[in-house]
Amino acid sequence: MIRFEQVSKVYADGTTAVDALSFDVAEGELVTLVGPSGCGKTTTMMMVNRLIEPTSGRILVDGEDIARVDPVRLRRRIGYVIQQVGLFPHRTVLDNTATVPALVGWKKAKARARAAELLDLVGLDPGTYGSRYPAQLSGGQRQRVGVARALAADPPVLLMDEPFGAVDPVVRERLQNEFLNLQATVRKTVLMVTHDIEEAVRMGDRIAVYGAGRIEQYDTPTTVLGTPANAYVARFVGADRGLKRLSVTPVEAADLEQPPLARFEDPARSAAAALRAEGARWAVVLNASGELHGWVSADSLAIAGGQGTVGELARRMEAWVPLGAPLKQAFGEMLQHDAGWVAVLDGTRFAGVLTPAKLHEALRRSVDAEAQGIAREDVEFDSVADA
Ligand code: ADP
Ligand code: MG
Repeated sequence: MIRFEQVSKVYADGTTAVDALSFDVAEGELVTLVGPSGCGKTTTMMMVNRLIEPTSGRILVDGEDIARVDPVRLRRRIGYVIQQVGLFPHRTVLDNTATVPALVGWKKAKARARAAELLDLVGLDPGTYGSRYPAQLSGGQRQRVGVARALAADPPVLLMDEPFGAVDPVVRERLQNEFLNLQATVRKTVLMVTHDIEEAVRMGDRIAVYGAGRIEQYDTPTTVLGTPANAYVARFVGADRGLKRLSVTPVEAADLEQPPLARFEDPARSAAAALRAEGARWAVVLNASGELHGWVSADSLAIAGGQGTVGELARRMEAWVPLGAPLKQAFGEMLQHDAGWVAVLDGTRFAGVLTPAKLHEALRRSVDAEAQGIAREDVEFDSVADA
């Protein structure tokens, strides 16, 4: 969708901001450009909508060399969210949001209806906020209006330059999540600049790590964190890159162990016998509708001398995560509940348990598979239960 071919930008004073840059962004992909201040990120971005012209090289958008496209026509296809939001102070939130549709000649009523729809999409009630002025909004709300405005003319491409830079960390994380949810529905091709590696790995399908004027590595977050291309990238992503990888690697079905199962209403005697037969020390306990209740240990069944039901001896299991949650969340649950494992649910169905050993394996797998260019789906692992 966006292609850079050997693009360089040398400013009038001789500064080489971008040096022979080549990379591709696929349709519907969110790519983050990350690097220290002054490495050429904003220059890269502004060449895409021709606010800055390259010194040499070509940029293609949707297969078209943009040097041959009228800049005004080009910008209609490209939404732009800038660092300082840049709302018009003397215009209402609704009119700010409707700016681009109005510019491209939509009828006023249609442009406003679209703006209201977009405000709603970014979590601002148009009835409440539409008639306010930017100064009457919080920083986070202004950022949301910036995103709504960029999306208003429904452009296939979105450029975002440090879009969440001006808000505090809590609001920032909320805006990031909101944007990811939004992106899951609108599926724009997004180029997003940030100087924050955490934001880059959390938001990007792929991330481009910038050194001075060039890309040092362009790959998925797990690969960049797991296998940095060189010492510069390793230093930039930080010594805690292993920990960061926890937040970008999901819990998958293949990571789970399958301990013995017991039902709430089962007699303790038969559950004890089943555990003995399997040589297991505990079982996961499901309730009558097959949902997770907790667990029961072989010891407590033995102490009860086979009297009563599993339900009377079971303990509740509070540590659980949904399938697909980041490993970090699973690890957090383990720590918070001081548990040796967490239950994993697929919807309301019990799917298995994640142990620290499996968590570690999952973390390794995400690196090994991607480093070798193997699709995740092609990699099979034996679970302890199968072995
Ligand atoms: P980033 O967005 O990564 O912080 P920029 O793309 O803004 O970096 O800048 C890259 C380099 O180009 C920096 O050294 C910056 O000082 C320089 N630069 C940016 N704009 C201009 C300009 N208009 N004239 C001269 N140098 C510029
Ligand atoms: Mg910049």
